Amino acid sequence: MKRLLLRIVRWAAVLLVVLAIGLLARGCYAFRDRIPGYTLDIKIDAATTQAQPRPLRAGFARVKINPDLSDPKRPVWLAGFSHNRAATAIHDDLWAIACVVDDGYTRFGVVVLDAIGFFHDDAVAVRRACAPEWKLNYTTVCSTHNHSTPDLMGLWGADVLHTGVDPNYRKQVIAAAARAFGEAVAALQPVRVAFHEIPTPTDGLVADTRKPIVFDPDIRVMHFTSAANGGTLGSIVGWANHPETPWGKNTEITSDFCGYLRDALEQGVTDEGRVLAAGVGGIHLYVNGAVGGLMTTHPSVTVRDPYLEQDYKEPSHEKSRAVAHQLASRILPVLTSGNSASTDVAPIGIRARTIELPIHNKLFLAAAYLGLIDRGHVRWKKMRTEVALVTLGEASIACVPGEIYPEIINGGIERAPGGDYDIEPLEVPPLRELMPGRIKFVFGLANDELGYIIPRSEWDEKPPRLYGSKGVYGEINSCGPDTARLVHAALADLCRGTPK
Ligand SMILES: [Zn+2]
Repeated sequence: MKRLLLRIVRWAAVLLVVLAIGLLARGCYAFRDRIPGYTLDIKIDAATTQAQPRPLRAGFARVKINPDLSDPKRPVWLAGFSHNRAATAIHDDLWAIACVVDDGYTRFGVVVLDAIGFFHDDAVAVRRACAPEWKLNYTTVCSTHNHSTPDLMGLWGADVLHTGVDPNYRKQVIAAAARAFGEAVAALQPVRVAFHEIPTPTDGLVADTRKPIVFDPDIRVMHFTSAANGGTLGSIVGWANHPETPWGKNTEITSDFCGYLRDALEQGVTDEGRVLAAGVGGIHLYVNGAVGGLMTTHPSVTVRDPYLEQDYKEPSHEKSRAVAHQLASRILPVLTSGNSASTDVAPIGIRARTIELPIHNKLFLAAAYLGLIDRGHVRWKKMRTEVALVTLGEASIACVPGEIYPEIINGGIERAPGGDYDIEPLEVPPLRELMPGRIKFVFGLANDELGYIIPRSEWDEKPPRLYGSKGVYGEINSCGPDTARLVHAALADLCRGTPK
């Protein structure tokens, strides 16, 4: 009897050890670094160009990134709202759209994906897929954060245990982004550029669904025209709003207001053959900025289509179009006014740096362990990401690797009543105060999607809850309460190191 008991204990111990080794091995595999040793520290200042200016050149290109919906056995899972939301149709095309600018010395490229988000490893994969002869000094891959696109982050599969990412689609997007860069390089030609900041009231357009109420409301535009004939080659439009207008019941793939806006700028707006607004041609990029906190055209917001003179409240594609038309009705008059100051000299400066961030979010760790979030970690509970500050003439661009709260950009962080840390704001001064130049762009979800970047003094997981509410949304999709401080500090450092 004693011998049997001993045998059982021995076997149980062996089993436990095997199980422990198995779990540990799974952990090591799931958290392995996908790009071991990868680090980046770029410091290119614009001084050479300023001393001996050469003419600015720019090129634009776009590549379609529609998923394949032809096989009913392989559903395409839509990202952003809930599990088990399979795409039923393609309402309008998804794109990877690139712009490359070259000041004669330095070449910067940005590609924007109609996607929920793209991890740092994938942005590096795009970088590595670019040919050396394209001579890109720095590349940024941004996602519009569109919630009607295939899952590329792994969180929205059939159920909580399965990723929604189709690895073939991810490869397709990486290849398409790189191809867009290559074609944009091939399209480089002498240009003039004009920068615009367009005041844009948020009423009837965007809601802030979490206190404090702070927006990054205005539209910023870089408009590139041919130096030879003045025609529009393209633009980069920056604004801040979640592209989730058709909301969670929509199962049709769409580029949301971002796509309608690009079309309106290029082709204009017509209704039954009547031209309501003329387009300017060219290829346009929409880049999302400080969307955290959370900026959205919520179903409670009624949007008026200024061209079609109709109101839209219920989530629909027509409502997405109305949001786009609101933006286009402000942008098109500026692009066509003809009296805006443009220049053919815009020196490029780039400061970009790899940073490491701690992950406190247990759900993110569990999702990584289960293989849902398929991205490398430099080591246990630490992930690698990237920040950058790019200057282009009198414009500057803060490249932020996630969804930053607008108060970190524009000011207005509060020592929020009910917050878990009763502290004064840490992420100050506001980044836009530190950024150089006249027109200051924010490229959000740039080279990564870390989720929400929440000020520590507004962090709230425990009772009492924020501002006496029943609880707030955001922390569940954030790496942790240190993210904002570290991202802010890294960007502030890049700003301080850049000549004003
Ligand atoms: Zn979001």
